[in-house]
Amino acid sequence: MFKFKKKLNYVYLIIPILIIIFIIFAKTIKKIDMRKLETQKIYEDIYTIQNNFFYMMQRLNVNMYLIKTGEHYIIVDAGVNMKQVKKGVKKLQINPDKVVAVFITHSHFDHIASLSMFKNAVLYASETETNSFIKYLENNKYQLLKDKQEIKISGLKIKCILTQGHSAGSMSYQINKKHLFVGDIIGLKDGKVILVPSMFNEGNDSLTIKNSIKKVANLEGVENIFTSHYGYSSNSKKAFENWIDYSD
Ligand SMILES: [Zn+2]
Repeated sequence: MFKFKKKLNYVYLIIPILIIIFIIFAKTIKKIDMRKLETQKIYEDIYTIQNNFFYMMQRLNVNMYLIKTGEHYIIVDAGVNMKQVKKGVKKLQINPDKVVAVFITHSHFDHIASLSMFKNAVLYASETETNSFIKYLENNKYQLLKDKQEIKISGLKIKCILTQGHSAGSMSYQINKKHLFVGDIIGLKDGKVILVPSMFNEGNDSLTIKNSIKKVANLEGVENIFTSHYGYSSNSKKAFENWIDYSD
């Protein structure tokens, strides 16, 4: 009995100590300031599905995008959780069998989870970004992309721009000139382009990332910028204000 009481006393001591350690640890973690963009129709031809996931004790969000063209859709990225993506397409009343192409900005886990859901789609990804999702490529038709390659799919013109830095083969996609999908190469705050926190990037090459941002900032005809974790901007001029290189 005495021994049991002693043990109990230790437990009473250890639990508060663990709680204090946990609180101190939690306070040292920097709050990740991302934007929430709910599942919705954004424009006449563009929809988004929001997924959530836990990362470093925080609830983060990631958006994938669907672009309507006639009866069909193409999508940019494929979310972090297939259940949430299924719920998203149901809410938007989109039949996943009508998706004819999936364009991957990069192969991180929060962008590829529902690839196998789109059985009639051809997968498109950068030729330098294949390693971590090669298993999906084996089951689907796929095409690897080069920088500046242009693809036409039922009325849509997709320009592929290699924007390395976040990952080895990150691609941005300019669709019908005015829509630019940038994945994780760009963050947005108060309508302006910011850098995504470096802890999310492979390696630590901020110069490559900045050069990639300049590359898309100088594209002609872009009106809207769609990011994966920071919502979108419908004023690309304002967003890219500090990134356009006038010396060219
Ligand atoms: Zn991401």
